[in-house]
Amino acid sequence: MKRVALLGATGSIGRQAIEIVEAHPGLELCAAASGSSSLDHVDAPLKQVGGDLVQLLERAEPDVVLNAVVGFAGIHATLWTLEHGVDLALANKESLVAGGELALAARARGGGRILPVDSEHSALFQCLADSAPDQVTSLVLTGSGGPFRGRTRDELGDVTPEEALAHPTWRMGPKITVDSATLANKGLEVIEAHFLFGLPYDRIEVVLQPTSIVHSLVRFRDGAALAHVGTPDMRVPISYALTYPERAATPLPPLDLTALTLEFEAPDLETFPMLALAREAGQRGGVHPCVFNAANEVAVAAFLAGRLPFLGIPELVADALARIDAGPVRDLDDLLAADGDARRLAEQGLPVA
Ligand code: NAD
Ligand code: MG
Repeated sequence: MKRVALLGATGSIGRQAIEIVEAHPGLELCAAASGSSSLDHVDAPLKQVGGDLVQLLERAEPDVVLNAVVGFAGIHATLWTLEHGVDLALANKESLVAGGELALAARARGGGRILPVDSEHSALFQCLADSAPDQVTSLVLTGSGGPFRGRTRDELGDVTPEEALAHPTWRMGPKITVDSATLANKGLEVIEAHFLFGLPYDRIEVVLQPTSIVHSLVRFRDGAALAHVGTPDMRVPISYALTYPERAATPLPPLDLTALTLEFEAPDLETFPMLALAREAGQRGGVHPCVFNAANEVAVAAFLAGRLPFLGIPELVADALARIDAGPVRDLDDLLAADGDARRLAEQGLPVA
């Protein structure tokens, strides 16, 4: 029996994970946590609403931690899991983006694995299999382009949270849905891929595939490109991460190939500056990915609360990145300080309420 600790159990990923665990006789929940929503409906021996996730993990003795918390709040659980050599099924990309170097160092000490839950990274993980790094030319992350794909900057001035939350292909929590509309999500995913797979940023491409059938591709040096295709349904990568390497059955119907048309297009980097900002933050390294993430979290919350226009999101993040004191991330204190500083800078940049 594999013991699963589920963090973020009431969210979009968390609820789908419960479905997967319940359907699989080899999986059991040993702990479930949420930020503030009730866990009354969740069947687990240890349950915690709010509070310290690390204390919960210490008591739970999990074989695998599914970190499905949203935002930088998931950092302590990510680091604890890797430090203790426990498998980390990672949906909480923000922790790996902000704390990538610390996370990889913790994994090296602990000896555990990161099993990506993000659909693109699950796809890349599967296409890469155990290929030697020199066989791989580049990773190609796909994205739907979000609800505003094809719009001009002028057409984005007065878009509302409701419009941003209407994602064309995926049903997800509000934060990642707004990130998909700004392309910040794809930016976070470029940094996530860099840390997960160890490729430099100039070998991580992004292409839009509006129906989200192609989940990502790997280009190899012989000219072959391997793609992962499937219905956009997060239960597949969740199940893969929780049952790896068994690849357990899911209730999904087979993909109807004859009903598909697959079109690809380049992202519009000028209209959606968050992708280029993330890439630049990743390339600069040190605290920059953490600052990008923190400022984005503040900006998205302000947009959802009606305090910041949609086009204010990249402005706020660019401003925080320009004003922050650049430095390395030597330890968790450095990281927490950078996150706190970036949040303060971003808050100061918000329009007066
Ligand atoms: P969500 O908003 O639906 O759920 C977030 C969950 O985290 C909730 O259970 C909430 O209670 C919990 N939470 C928030 N703050 C917490 C804290 N401080 N301590 C403990 N729990 C806390 O979000 P989601 O869409 O499920 O996304 C979760 C993560 O998965 C994000 O990092 C997101 O980027 C990633 N992800 C989501 C999807 C998707 O389809 N939803 C796809 C890929 C990646
Ligand atoms: Mg994704």
